[in-house]
Amino acid sequence: MNKPGKIGFVSLGCPKALVDSERILTQLKLDGYALTNSYDGADLVVVNTCGFIDSAKAESLAAIGEALHANGRVIVTGCLGAQAETIREAHPNVLHISGPQQYEAVVAAVHEHVPLTATPDPRIDLVPAQGIKLTPRHYAYLKISEGCNHHCSFCIIPSMRGKLVSRPLSEIMGEAERLVAAGVRELLVISQDTSAYGSDLKTRTSFWQGRPLHASFAGLCAALGELGVWVRLHYVYPYPHVDDVLPLMADGKILPYLDIPFQHGSPRILKLMRRPAAAENTLERIRRWREVCPELVLRSTFIVGFPGETDADFRTLLDFLSAAELDRVGCFQYSPVAGAAANRLPDPVPAAIMQARYAEFMIVQQAISRRRLQRQVGRRLSVLIDRLEDQAAVGRSYADAPEIDGLVYVKPKTRLAPGELVEVTIDSSDDYDLHGRID
Ligand code: SF4
Repeated sequence: MNKPGKIGFVSLGCPKALVDSERILTQLKLDGYALTNSYDGADLVVVNTCGFIDSAKAESLAAIGEALHANGRVIVTGCLGAQAETIREAHPNVLHISGPQQYEAVVAAVHEHVPLTATPDPRIDLVPAQGIKLTPRHYAYLKISEGCNHHCSFCIIPSMRGKLVSRPLSEIMGEAERLVAAGVRELLVISQDTSAYGSDLKTRTSFWQGRPLHASFAGLCAALGELGVWVRLHYVYPYPHVDDVLPLMADGKILPYLDIPFQHGSPRILKLMRRPAAAENTLERIRRWREVCPELVLRSTFIVGFPGETDADFRTLLDFLSAAELDRVGCFQYSPVAGAAANRLPDPVPAAIMQARYAEFMIVQQAISRRRLQRQVGRRLSVLIDRLEDQAAVGRSYADAPEIDGLVYVKPKTRLAPGELVEVTIDSSDDYDLHGRID
């Protein structure tokens, strides 16, 4: 029998890009290709790129260069693929370029450049029911929609990924069930705007296990909450209808965790940013959420130095931080994205001022995060073990998403394995992490 074509794959970018990679890999495997994680011996290498900010673009272009150097035959896809001329300019020899979510185009290009000489043998080329996953076995990203209906002035994602297209709820539940059956204990719900889920479907009904399900944000959370695993919500905006899912968190159906990219605290800057839900009274909303669910953990990201940000705006942002008492916060200095509307705004913030504001922001927030984390000391928390290190097992509680939040170091590590959910007494905390024991 002929050998199947062998495809190498490099996946860059955010969890949404990772899900795109998983989908392409699953299709290639179904078609009968062999997959390899090395350049050597691959008939071709696919690079799934990120094009969000300039540093991500540079990283993507470098990865394409490395693959070309090591292998020579490269297909490019993903967000940077939407700027084909940038790629061609740096690397004229790539075989094919496609944009984000263009799964069929990538797979067709692989078929064109590495024609299959063998048909897949169903006894050997088994693809797991949940598809090919690039995350550890015990957690998985669940993408609920593509695209975005907003027009944030610093972002070009809508022009790369198009308008919001939600997946039918029955399809999402089918995928979630397969993941859980395959051993996944934590589902990380992702999209560009999770709180907008279903708005394009007009709450259309679909059927799961013979029951009607309504495609809405609350319907999605209620259905996922029935699966008996951790359900973590990313990229939510503080709209009034988000209030409806707080009782599910208080009842332990979904994790009391919300990842809300607020980006700023000054209404004037939020307006310049054209952020969704910018007009809402966010502090009051957060207060009410915590009333319903005191365990709620809030993670967010912010941008300092957005064009036009005055000292007064920055003080308003610091006041917002102090009042909101967010648990986990990431901060970025504004960096222009080619093609974004914000590039046309007047009054850019000088680099030195931006850097000083960033440093001040971090000092203010670090004290808040440390204080919030200390509240966990003395509690018993369920911890999902991710890996074993020399001295301890390393896991996460409901308050920590993988890759972006803190960790829980658990001792003794004997008899613990990745994917296990254990009860841990928390003994101490530091700036980002918790330390605890199994009694
Ligand atoms: S919500 Fe704003 S930042 Fe997020 S993808 Fe949509 S336009 Fe971009």
